[in-house]
Amino acid sequence: MRSQLLIITQKLAELGLNKGTAGNSSVRSGDGFLVTPSGMNVEDMTPQSMVQMAFDGSYEANKIPSSEWRFHRDILADRPEINAVIHTHSMFATTMACLHKDIPPFHYMIAVTGGDTIRCAPYALFGTQVLSDHALAALYHSKACLLANHGMIALGRDLDDALAVTVEMENLCEQYWRILQIEPNPPLLTEQEMSEVFQQFKGYGKWAI
Ligand SMILES: [Zn+2]
Repeated sequence: MRSQLLIITQKLAELGLNKGTAGNSSVRSGDGFLVTPSGMNVEDMTPQSMVQMAFDGSYEANKIPSSEWRFHRDILADRPEINAVIHTHSMFATTMACLHKDIPPFHYMIAVTGGDTIRCAPYALFGTQVLSDHALAALYHSKACLLANHGMIALGRDLDDALAVTVEMENLCEQYWRILQIEPNPPLLTEQEMSEVFQQFKGYGKWAI
């Protein structure tokens, strides 16, 4: 599991979704979860750099977990169907987050998040319990949210699923950003049209919640 978390962290960097030491990821492991370390460049990480944490916030000796461990812990504690959490400062998701924009159903692929709107959580200082509380609320019945003036969070039933949601979310945010250059009020799919997409996805499997 430590190796899988490292591979996903490397993929996020290769895809340009995280740069430098920004962003962090976690995966359920044993009685707790593994989270990426604090302030370490991806190229310096090994499987042993990953930090095993318990749900009470305690962690392996001689290691420092990501400063955002609280929302990783709270999401994994609150959402039994979710086993992996990815946080990025990726360009287009962060652009939308800095505009405090929810992403409405302008494209049917919004349904990959499990809802018809990707909510933007209100701003709170990084690393705080308040940020975690805001994130958890914005993720209600959804696998993705934006964090105002900060970035985004994507969830998955495993790390590959969380990465797929991350990639799709960044695509959606880039598409929406482009659309807004031309039309500030683009046509949206209706509730009925989105419910048909959810039905279609049930048979498709890949994006099942
Ligand atoms: Zn961050």
